[in-house]
Amino acid sequence: MHAGRDMEPLTQSLKELALERGAALVGVASIDRWAPQPPYGDAAPRGHHPDDFLPGTQAVISIAQPILNPVLNAPAALADEEMAMIPDHVKYAYLETFYNRVGHVVHDYMLEFIAQVIGQRLMQHGFEAMIFPTTGLHPKVGDLSDIEIWEGPPSAQAEGFSPFRYTYGPFSHRHAATRAGLGEFGYNNVVLTPEFGPRQRFNSILTDAPLVPDPLIEEPICLRDDCNLCQAACIMACITLRDDPAVQDYRSVEHVDRQRIFIDTPAKTDPTLCRRRRDGKPHSPIRGDCIRVCPVPKAPTHLSRRLKALLDTWQAADAG
Ligand code: SF4
Ligand code: SF4
Repeated sequence: MHAGRDMEPLTQSLKELALERGAALVGVASIDRWAPQPPYGDAAPRGHHPDDFLPGTQAVISIAQPILNPVLNAPAALADEEMAMIPDHVKYAYLETFYNRVGHVVHDYMLEFIAQVIGQRLMQHGFEAMIFPTTGLHPKVGDLSDIEIWEGPPSAQAEGFSPFRYTYGPFSHRHAATRAGLGEFGYNNVVLTPEFGPRQRFNSILTDAPLVPDPLIEEPICLRDDCNLCQAACIMACITLRDDPAVQDYRSVEHVDRQRIFIDTPAKTDPTLCRRRRDGKPHSPIRGDCIRVCPVPKAPTHLSRRLKALLDTWQAADAG
């Protein structure tokens, strides 16, 4: 069977199924889009390519669910306020858990359920399908802590440890989303869509059905150097552009071409710094300021005082 008109009905019915079951966005990528692309020639790391999970993958379905704006914003804004029923020494952990539950875990499960339903539908049509956890995994290995498992000895790029130095998802849903035409990467190393900016989570379904692919994004979504609010918002300075000569690692490139659509990410995040934001800084912001502050598709409201000041300054400069 070949891509084309005969696969259109199945492609459409799978998209409708995803939307009925709770996805807000759905797109299809053809497998040729996993060939390394200019300008960086990024390739899926060994063991993380679609063919590693389903040899003969023909298409990847990308699905997304938004994080509701108040769910993202309220926990961070409340960190500045008194909460009569929550003791001060618990408040930050409480708000972080609150956000994680309704801004992360619920998406993780729902997207996995939607993927399973789509996988079953593909099976009914005689095709294979592979589904994934929505986020990174934290396997238990003896008594080792997450840090001992992923980072190894301090400051080491030690052999036998992940070069990423943190848990790594089996498959990159962000790279699938850009290849399915849902969005482009932003300076915050997160995928932005025209509909929700960076405020959504993704999952992906691989299949050997040659579904009809969607067109790639043609207009930039991230505001690039006219904005840069995400990097300014990060108290740990853990997001850098890949051509920053001061922060060299396996993801570094010579030059980030700002004119191109970011199908591959122009930025990188140091996950070990991000994870440690509360070490020694118990009142550090609730996780997610790098997406909370983003003014795409519209300027956020109900921000913490620190983010509001950043956004106000940027808006004043933009108006000036
Ligand atoms: S979650 Fe916070 S610490 Fe981590 S990268 Fe985003 S802004 Fe930085
Ligand atoms: S905050 Fe600005 S620079 Fe960062 S991702 Fe959003 S639009 Fe791009």
